[in-house]
Amino acid sequence: MKIIVIGSGLLGVTTAYELGKRGFDVTVLDRGAESASETSHSNGGQLSYSHAEPWANASVLPKLPSWVFRDDAPLVLRPRADWEMTKWGLKFLRNCTSERARINCVNMLRLGLYSRERMMALAKETGIAFDYKETGILHIFDSEKEFDHAKEQNEFQAKFGGQERVLSREETLKMEPALAGTNRYIIGGIHAFLDGCGDARLFCQELAKYARERYGVKFVYGVNFSEFKTENDTISALSTDKGDLIADGYVLAAGSYSSVYLRDIGIDVPIYPMKGYSITIEADAACPNISLTDGTHKIVYSRLGDRLRIAGTAEFAGYNQNINPKRITPIVRAAKELFPHADWAQDISTWACLRPSTPDGPPILGRTPYSNLFLNTGHGTLGWTQAAGSAAIVADIMEGKNPAILMHGLTIDRYIAPPPTSKRT
Ligand SMILES: Cc1cc2nc3c(=O)[nH]c(=O)nc-3n(C[C@H](O)[C@H](O)[C@H](O)COP(=O)(O)OP(=O)(O)OC[C@H]3O[C@@H](n4cnc5c(N)ncnc54)[C@H](O)[C@@H]3O)c2cc1C
Repeated sequence: MKIIVIGSGLLGVTTAYELGKRGFDVTVLDRGAESASETSHSNGGQLSYSHAEPWANASVLPKLPSWVFRDDAPLVLRPRADWEMTKWGLKFLRNCTSERARINCVNMLRLGLYSRERMMALAKETGIAFDYKETGILHIFDSEKEFDHAKEQNEFQAKFGGQERVLSREETLKMEPALAGTNRYIIGGIHAFLDGCGDARLFCQELAKYARERYGVKFVYGVNFSEFKTENDTISALSTDKGDLIADGYVLAAGSYSSVYLRDIGIDVPIYPMKGYSITIEADAACPNISLTDGTHKIVYSRLGDRLRIAGTAEFAGYNQNINPKRITPIVRAAKELFPHADWAQDISTWACLRPSTPDGPPILGRTPYSNLFLNTGHGTLGWTQAAGSAAIVADIMEGKNPAILMHGLTIDRYIAPPPTSKRT
């Protein structure tokens, strides 16, 4: 059975690997010159399976007014004449209740823990190298309020399989000795010991190579997909700048652009680009070894081999991928404050891209109203974390099997009426 996967980022490559492994004849197409040329290129590197609290939660609401006009806010929101953003924003606000946030959190935790299982199996099977570390993520706190909130969240998630360890100030500093030089007063930490980190771009490129060599998956770069051609409730072809392409089934994994192509065929799903930034420096002894999350500034740190990746910021700026220096400054400032003895005189590499975000948090996996079109998209801030599990789920659905986890809150059904041909999962 011939399948075309649109998009060669984390979700496209992992899906192609899963489908190739199960005997499908898979072709992946991407407009970039290589895999991971857009959002999966230089992300924060965290495999934060235990971090399941959605951005849309009750604690965000009181902070929103002060974030709207501040250039250095973790979430930068500029009122714009953009109907898609307005609709997305209203849905986001509707999800900012404790009840909705809990439901979304449980759905994301289930997918996160399953993704951990699948990632470990994938790493073992393929043996690919991507600066992968399973040493956990250390969340650090300098505010009692934030620390208390995280502890409550930790207790809640423990009921659903989450496992993290609360640390005193001394234990936190001992776990990451590079924090000893910080200009901030760390009051404690939480060690998400199930978590890890790795280089997403290296992972995509190595996994693409593995899937090509081992399972015959074809990767075609420099192809621009423009629209789906439809016939009743099926996709009959893909229009591209290299001509029409035909397959038995199609997987859309086009990141933030997925919703644009879906809208053209009458499927309205709220995936909106949430822009993020990262910087990368050569790491030295003053840089952390364990992956860190600084909840106060909403910035993450991952040591990827001999580099340190630092990422953060959520900016609503439409589909503009330009690097705005105003957003880089707060990331560098926060990193210098936390690790003042690192080498900040070196050239800092900067990057920006668009997180394909849903207003409630979880991605959209599986069937659509078109019987041969499947989705693996909308992973927002957690696409690296959730890639391995999402791909296995989508491949299961395409094979006609029931996925290994409950699909509640992870499918298109939460936004539109269930597809008539859908096999209920
Ligand atoms: C600053 C930042 C930090 C992040 N940190 C983390 C983190 O620490 N942990 C984590 O889990 N997640 C993180 N993320 C999120 C994660 O990187 C994304 O969720 C993930 O990369 C999305 O992958 P994707 O495959 O959906 O999209 P992409 O990687 O963007 O892949 C989609 C592909 O589709 C292709 N495409 C789109 N339209 C077309 C077309 N018309 N024709 C042909 N090809 C097309 C694009 O070229 C692209 O390669 C971060 C994101 C950002 C921006």
